[in-house]
Amino acid sequence: MKVFNTLSRKKEEFVPLEPGKVRMYVCGPTVYNFIHIGNARPMIVFDTVRRYFEYKGYDVNYVSNFTDVDDKIINKAIEEGVDSSVISERYIAECKKDMKGMNVKPATTHPLATEEIHGMIAMIETLIEKGYAYRAEDGTVYYRTRKFKDYGKLSHKNLEDLQAGHREIKVVGEKEDDLDFVLWKPKKDGEPYWESPWCDGRPGWHIECSVMAKHYLGDEIDIHAGGEDLIFPHHENEIAQSEAANGRQFSKYWMHNAFLNIDNRKMSKSLGNFFTVREISEKYDLQVLRFFMLSAHYRSPLNFSAELMEASKNGLVRILTAVERLGELLSSAADGEPAEKETAVRNQMKELVEKYEAAMEDDFNTADAVSAVFEMVKLANTSVDETSGKVLVEYVKSTVETLCGVLGIITEKREELLDADIEALIAERQQARKDKNFARADEIRNELAAKGILLKDTREGVKWTRA
Ligand code: AMP
Ligand code: ZN
Repeated sequence: MKVFNTLSRKKEEFVPLEPGKVRMYVCGPTVYNFIHIGNARPMIVFDTVRRYFEYKGYDVNYVSNFTDVDDKIINKAIEEGVDSSVISERYIAECKKDMKGMNVKPATTHPLATEEIHGMIAMIETLIEKGYAYRAEDGTVYYRTRKFKDYGKLSHKNLEDLQAGHREIKVVGEKEDDLDFVLWKPKKDGEPYWESPWCDGRPGWHIECSVMAKHYLGDEIDIHAGGEDLIFPHHENEIAQSEAANGRQFSKYWMHNAFLNIDNRKMSKSLGNFFTVREISEKYDLQVLRFFMLSAHYRSPLNFSAELMEASKNGLVRILTAVERLGELLSSAADGEPAEKETAVRNQMKELVEKYEAAMEDDFNTADAVSAVFEMVKLANTSVDETSGKVLVEYVKSTVETLCGVLGIITEKREELLDADIEALIAERQQARKDKNFARADEIRNELAAKGILLKDTREGVKWTRA
């Protein structure tokens, strides 16, 4: 299996530290709001990586944190006049709902930064003892970046370039060097804080992940992953901290997903051009979002658009319809030895399984893996029918189901998927009526009637039934 390693900028053969096991850490979201569809990309992509390793028989220890102490959380808490734990707990619960909708498996462990403060203090103490960190006058603890000789090895930056990019004016009593970054910072009024040997305060963001990875996976891990914006400084700093403190290579492979864009522009909260996963779920079954994400290679930028979502939905419905049909065929298929032409179909299926696996083994090329599934569906639709024996129907059905399962696509959801469509049309009709666009409202009613969906306006809203 080949994995593109950001460290070497090459595809490398995957060799686990311990045979049969994968220790994997994926940086999770900062929980101050609903997650947006950009945050969903690493969740879906690396959940699929995990599922493929499991399909290959590996035992995967998958750790993904929630960053639950951060300026953005604190600001939101102040805005609402509540404790910051109220905000983080609320959005962790909402995030878990979205993950379920996208069929992202819960991690083996989802650690919370606020529950790992002891470990952070211990690692910072080690870094101070080893000369990699120091306390400034105001109680802030900084990492002494220049002391770590390999600094820049992940982001392929050198210290001189980094230095040139820094134009901060140095304040006496603060950092020794512009490149130094924060490990621990003093509390401000109204902020959550913890006692420490240096001052009452809270950890910097980077130390959280170094410590949570160490606690749940050990000093050396197989894969560390996240979005490509995390390469610098977050992951570079994690390497500096962990390798200086533990004296071992932190992660053997570093995987980074490219960004999800909207209208070919970077999607970000500050530009205001983002959708939350929850918003998308009002219009689509989140399986469609998952399928859309997997239609591209994880290292290619992906542009979100209504057209691509529609195409993904149609593709997904095609697969699920084929599986449903195979289920129907199976219930009436005859037992007995497969006929010769059935052996040929079986062999074609086997070749497609190989194609699927080859795509996934080539740095998780889900786009090509999905193409292989479409070819299987085509084969099933053209070569499996009422005359096919049980053994063949069962084989084709279970193969498509298993391989969809590795992509996290649930094959039994066809009706629900279509239900989401119906709900969306009903919502559009309500809006049309509000806007006094009765022509559109009638058009939608007729469109639904043609699909056998009957609408009834009641006092509790619109109810619908299948005719
Ligand atoms: P954050 O909450 O900003 O730390 O982000 C959580 C995860 O989502 C990180 O792995 C980010 O790299 C990733 N991420 C954020 N925005 C996007 C985006 N537009 N496309 C892909 N990944 C993203
Ligand atoms: Zn992290």
